[in-house]
Amino acid sequence: MQILSQLSHEMQIFLVTIFALIFGSFGTLVSYRLARNEPIGFTRSKCLSCGNILRVWNLIPLLSWIFQRGKCSNCHAKISLRYPLIELSFLLSFLLIFFALGQNLDAKTLLHFAIAATLIVMVVVDLEEYFIPNSTQYFLTILVTILVIMQGGTGVVWAHVFSAFVFLGSGIALWIFFRYAAGVDALGIDDIKFFFIAGFALGNKNILTFMLLSGVFGLLFGGLWQKLKKDETFPFAPAICLAFLMCLLFEKKINPVDLLGSILFFNGI
Ligand SMILES: [Zn+2]
Repeated sequence: MQILSQLSHEMQIFLVTIFALIFGSFGTLVSYRLARNEPIGFTRSKCLSCGNILRVWNLIPLLSWIFQRGKCSNCHAKISLRYPLIELSFLLSFLLIFFALGQNLDAKTLLHFAIAATLIVMVVVDLEEYFIPNSTQYFLTILVTILVIMQGGTGVVWAHVFSAFVFLGSGIALWIFFRYAAGVDALGIDDIKFFFIAGFALGNKNILTFMLLSGVFGLLFGGLWQKLKKDETFPFAPAICLAFLMCLLFEKKINPVDLLGSILFFNGI
């Protein structure tokens, strides 16, 4: 780790880009298999149309897709936009993390890369199949436990367990509110599980910010989803995963009272 953070700034950004594209490429595979309950193995990737085994130059993240103009080089079948989009979201989130955490490729930054990668896989599966795989929730729990101990030592673990239950309670309250007041199932059981993990990772002081951001992102994203997909139910993972990442990266820079003020101001109330 020490070696990485001693590299030049340009070299670190270059490495972040390479990490993002490699993880992103792996992320397209993991999300595809998890969504279909297939085992994640390291089999050779094939074209889904013609079965042509992809060669190294067909597998360069983003670039292959751009140079092949989104088509298989063998049968010219269209390659889904999900591949470049997932790779691009890895790139953007890894760069955001690198800059938000002080532009240093240290253990904390690498741990956040792994957390972001897990969040993106959750979002992709929820967007495509409307669920969050349990294995990703377990994996995220392990990562945030390491983060909590890395930042506060083992002494803070019980306080974080307590806040996990507070977040869980708020999630259930929100679900009941939507279910009985508005008559919609806005949150699923997978989202409520995620609240528990988010509470453990963030601690009590972030609950208001997390809830506000989840609500705002949920409204924006839900509106967009209903417009584009004409579907009443919408996946909530994008909203809560983005809110969670924002709280992790900017916890000391977001003041929930200011945030609420700017939301109200923005809405012209
Ligand atoms: Zn093909």
